[in-house]
Amino acid sequence: MKAARWYKPKDIRVETVEEPVISQGKVKIKVQWTGICGSDLHEYAAGPIFIPVDQPHYLSKDIAPIIMGHEFSGEVVEVGEGVTKVKVGDAVVVEPILACGECAACKKGKYNICIHLGFHGLSGGGGGFSEYTMVDEKMVHKMPEGLSYEQGALVEPAAVALHSVRLSKIKAGDKAAVFGTGPIGLLVIEALRAAGASEIYAVELSEERAAKALELGASAVINPQNEDPIARIHELTNGGVDVAFEVTGIPVVLKQAIDSTTFEGETIIVSIWESEASIQPNNIVLAERTVKGIIAYRDIFPAVMELMKQGYFPADKLVTKRIGLDDVVTEGFETLMKEKNQIKILVNSQS
Ligand SMILES: [Zn+2]
Ligand SMILES: [Zn+2]
Repeated sequence: MKAARWYKPKDIRVETVEEPVISQGKVKIKVQWTGICGSDLHEYAAGPIFIPVDQPHYLSKDIAPIIMGHEFSGEVVEVGEGVTKVKVGDAVVVEPILACGECAACKKGKYNICIHLGFHGLSGGGGGFSEYTMVDEKMVHKMPEGLSYEQGALVEPAAVALHSVRLSKIKAGDKAAVFGTGPIGLLVIEALRAAGASEIYAVELSEERAAKALELGASAVINPQNEDPIARIHELTNGGVDVAFEVTGIPVVLKQAIDSTTFEGETIIVSIWESEASIQPNNIVLAERTVKGIIAYRDIFPAVMELMKQGYFPADKLVTKRIGLDDVVTEGFETLMKEKNQIKILVNSQS
């Protein structure tokens, strides 16, 4: 079968690999659509970050070259012995988390903060940029009637956004700010609308992304090149937002997010960081503010799909390009590096 494998930065190859062979407790999936994620782009441009290169991943026992793609939907084509959750022909999405099930976090059900955390499509064992892939039964979720495979490919990134909002202290009627409106930031805006935020301020440099944020329901977009986002947010909200979401990973923005909140305000860090970021702790201390980080998601895929049935996280507004697997590098990764107006590019594994 055909699959796209990461060898090293700037070296992803579409090549022929062995098709997975069904085994006990596993589900084999004919992949339909897979999204290219910001973290995929980091792996391509400057990786490895999650990809195992020096030693095999603790759980997948796999090492580069590895098949990429962790945001995907597909059709069940075979199930292993003992599988009861899905059957052949079901449309499914995959929750791509690899967790050990044995560490302290896993034992408390918090598998997304497993000490051996990995991702199907980043840490080995197969991935979505592939004609077929195979995962544990517990990782598949049956899609409800009426959701398209394209919409299914957005469940994983939308789950990150919904998890971040659910772990925040936001209440219906509260005010929020979202710093950075790439794909995840835009999905956070959607999740905040679902949570009943009364005002949502986006902070974004790119004109195209600002327009998309407004289209998805941001109350206003502040361009930090033209005005001070902290002062502007305090002015618009008469004293600061209840919760700010940091979705850029840019050091100076963390401070802006914290300072944009009101007293007892909360900042949720959604980004993964490449460097340190400095803050003035007094800005937290003197207003009794809180700063909290989140990673991935847990126990949330079914809720995301229910919200999608109500029209949240719409693929028709977020998907800006559709390509075939053969073109994943030239028309996918390379395009995302160059074109800021792209939001989500989906790759079809069967064309
Ligand atoms: Zn992702
Ligand atoms: Zn664990």
